[in-house]
Amino acid sequence: MALIVQKYGGTSVGSVERIQAVAQRVYKTVKAGNSLVVVVSAMGKTTDGLVKLANEISPNPNRREMDMLLSTGEQVTIALLSMALQELGQPAISMTGAQVGIVTEAEHSRARILHIETTRLTRHINEGKVVVVAGFQGTSSAGEMEITTLGRGGSDTSAVAIAAALRANFCEIYTDVPGILTTDPRLVAEAQLMDAITCNEMLELASLGAKVLHPRAVEIARNYGVPLVVRSSWTDAPGTWVTSAKPQGRSLINLEIARPVDHVEFDTNQAKVALLHVPDKPGVAARLFGEISRQKVDVDLIIQSVHEGNSNDIAFTVTTPILKRAEAVAAAIAPALRSQSNPKLSEAEVMIENNIAKVSIAGAGMIGRPGVAAKMFATLAEVGVNIQMISTSEVKVSCVVDAAECDRAVIALRSAFEIEAKEQKVESRGEFLTPNSSLLTPHSSPTPPVRGVALDLNQARLAIRQLPDRPGMAAKLFGLLAQHNISVDMIIQSQRCRVIDGVPRRDIAFTVSRIDGESAKEMLTQVAAELGWGEVVLDSAIAKVSIVGAGMVGQPGVATKMFEALAQQQINIQMIATSEIKISCVVAQEQGVKALQAIHAAFGLAGSEKFVVPA
Ligand code: ASP
Ligand code: MG
Repeated sequence: MALIVQKYGGTSVGSVERIQAVAQRVYKTVKAGNSLVVVVSAMGKTTDGLVKLANEISPNPNRREMDMLLSTGEQVTIALLSMALQELGQPAISMTGAQVGIVTEAEHSRARILHIETTRLTRHINEGKVVVVAGFQGTSSAGEMEITTLGRGGSDTSAVAIAAALRANFCEIYTDVPGILTTDPRLVAEAQLMDAITCNEMLELASLGAKVLHPRAVEIARNYGVPLVVRSSWTDAPGTWVTSAKPQGRSLINLEIARPVDHVEFDTNQAKVALLHVPDKPGVAARLFGEISRQKVDVDLIIQSVHEGNSNDIAFTVTTPILKRAEAVAAAIAPALRSQSNPKLSEAEVMIENNIAKVSIAGAGMIGRPGVAAKMFATLAEVGVNIQMISTSEVKVSCVVDAAECDRAVIALRSAFEIEAKEQKVESRGEFLTPNSSLLTPHSSPTPPVRGVALDLNQARLAIRQLPDRPGMAAKLFGLLAQHNISVDMIIQSQRCRVIDGVPRRDIAFTVSRIDGESAKEMLTQVAAELGWGEVVLDSAIAKVSIVGAGMVGQPGVATKMFEALAQQQINIQMIATSEIKISCVVAQEQGVKALQAIHAAFGLAGSEKFVVPA
């Protein structure tokens, strides 16, 4: 009936008994009339064990030899599972990545898939066999064929890529948790299982979901419209569907490297409201946006950059027709938001900018590729477009520019990222691609505004003070970071512009992985003087908490609820960045868990049942 790709993770195949249980499930699925390709991981903690062995011999083992070593783990499992199936009377054949023809880049230990041969797979399927494929591995094609691996956790990616190549009806990821939860159950025991989530939401929740599902697998599922479900291997519970809108036909050549960016979007119907010199203390954002949502003003981007002294600037964009209303609210609240740091200013200053446009690049392929944002900034610099605001999420970079420069910016970006001009794409909410309705419990309730809450405790924040405000500066900065292979997460450019030595200047703050913090700081400090930048400041004690949900589009009050939850706990918000479906706040590290718990509860995501974390 259906062609299904199933993937079983390490714990699911951790012992002979478990491999036999997997064989039973596979056998049952075949008997129900389906054809099956099964992708497996190495047994239990085998891969960790192999890494440890290597490290006992060399602190810095050769990457080619590492791939040779690590790929053996999966080879054990495919043989054993095939035998277990044959014992049940089910014809089966095991295949390595090279035997299938999973062709990858020649990059050892982090290869991306270029394409997958389907001839031999299809032949065995047609012979009635279950094909058991080693996950996580492939082969390079250029010159001498070499064994490559896709990076830790890569078996998910193998499975979804095979499903895309075979145009399978769907792909099932079997693991040791029941699916995707609203947050990390080790931090919030009331976390609930979701019945569905979109690929875009899943990608934005990377820091939450990455342990359950490799982000590259989600990227492939989204790009090729592969219906995907994450389920427990211990039960028959339905799990969580990870859905995508119907994609436009995409070539299966250069499967994982085709295009890091697949949309250039713009919106000229935007205006910016900034409040300068608001106090840097808990409750300010909550108060401001509380008032704004009471007036039913729907804000789009919200940013708050690093503070300067004891005060912050908060800026947001709204659609032009409601600018007047937004401005009135901001002006009314400004006197109450007085900054103690600057007694000369009796109230926060309201700044309105009418002629602006938002230009964004979007695409799952930018995850882990620091050069993508840098390329956007460089492209804008080349055509002389100055960036007024930057806000980023995992899969999107948005820049606010002068409206008069929007066309020029869009044309340049489309050509730089090889995007054909077509209609702007909007986040799809209703239209889910699923194998058939009986497999998916349809949503009885509408899409919730917030699907999940993630906490990332592994980031550090860097700020560059007083960067000259002219085209090319962001390009220079993020280009340097990309050259050093440092991935940047949130990027925020401050509102406040100060003229020093006759040059207008702004601060730019961004977050990186904590392990990259020191080296990034050192590298940037070295160039700062020469480029005329101010101080480079590093703060490693931060936490990023994010809410994600496609249902927040066009719904006023979502950001406010998040800010209010933080205010009630007396948690100060250090930075804010948003995309259409995500709002992230940086807070002090020691308040991260408390922030997560408060926000999760505020959105009613907590369930009555406590979730038991599997050992
Ligand atoms: N065995 C590999 C790992 O542990 C790949 C995987 O399981 O997805 O990272
Ligand atoms: Mg995994």
